Amino acid sequence: MKIMINGINAGLRFSSAHIIPAHASCGFIHGHSYFVDVEIEGNRSGDYDFVVDFKDVKNAVRSICKKLDHRVLIPINNKNMKFKGINHFEELDSDEKEESEDYPDEDLNKSADSEEYKDSDKSEDSDESMDSDKSSDSDELSVLDFCNKDYVEFIIKNKEYKFPMEDCVLLPLKHSSAEELSQYFANIIFEDLKEKGYEIDSVSVCVNEGIGQGAFCRKE
Ligand SMILES: [Zn+2]
Repeated sequence: MKIMINGINAGLRFSSAHIIPAHASCGFIHGHSYFVDVEIEGNRSGDYDFVVDFKDVKNAVRSICKKLDHRVLIPINNKNMKFKGINHFEELDSDEKEESEDYPDEDLNKSADSEEYKDSDKSEDSDESMDSDKSSDSDELSVLDFCNKDYVEFIIKNKEYKFPMEDCVLLPLKHSSAEELSQYFANIIFEDLKEKGYEIDSVSVCVNEGIGQGAFCRKE
């Protein structure tokens, strides 16, 4: 059986700025008022024979929306973005490099979550272990690589950007596109509901960049 939640009616939304580096029109910083539709398929279970309690789904989605809302979305593994002091084409800061190498590999994915670096959000740690579906590609950056920085500084081709860290959310993604965001949401929600003991088969998420335009990802 399947349950569905319509994001625009249920208030599952966030507003964020982003850039699609090197894209002809989306390569300029701009924003969207996103909303998030969710479908959950699975067996009915528990005291109430629910597929899943709507409240649990909405809480999981809202937690992610809250994290992204009113922030600049930074996909730290975008090949067109070079981050100062991390993988900038100029000299690497040796101290920072050593710091980033102190973290054991097994912690990188687990902690791929910018919540750890925002004091105001430290109470929300429920999605830390579900944030990333990264491969083991050693070239990929971890959010931990940015942990001591007050600013996010990067270049895209000949353009330089500098944002206060608190204005940003660092995402362990290659893009901040609706496609990647839908996958990001689906992975986290799927793990969240599994942890709560639901017998779900799939979580499908559509991240809409406004009405009539969105990307759909199904996580099984
Ligand atoms: Zn856009």
